[in-house]
Amino acid sequence: MRLKARSGTRRKEELPANAGPVRSCIGCGGRRVQEELTRLVVGPGGVVVVDRKRQLPGRGAYLCGAGCLAAAVKRKAFARAFRGKAGAVDPSALGQALESGPAQGGAAGGSGC
Ligand SMILES: [Zn+2]
Repeated sequence: MRLKARSGTRRKEELPANAGPVRSCIGCGGRRVQEELTRLVVGPGGVVVVDRKRQLPGRGAYLCGAGCLAAAVKRKAFARAFRGKAGAVDPSALGQALESGPAQGGAAGGSGC
């Protein structure tokens, strides 16, 4: 009797040490992998906006989530993080943007060209 015990499965090994760059949250100061944080940048006019795709140019600041937003505003962490370039920080608008999460991909939009 012959047994074919070989299956072609390969294991992917993921090294946690190689997860990516680590950034500090400006709200709580906790250090996390960049992917777990939300990036914020200063847009035109000094308005702080959420850079969900992390593609906008300029200096970035990072937040764990909406919970750390209030702390960051209290600590005036935006002024520090953006070196005075941040003008108006709108906590409610930023909070909404943070809470909406990255998983909002065209379910309701349906804007196909
Ligand atoms: Zn945080």
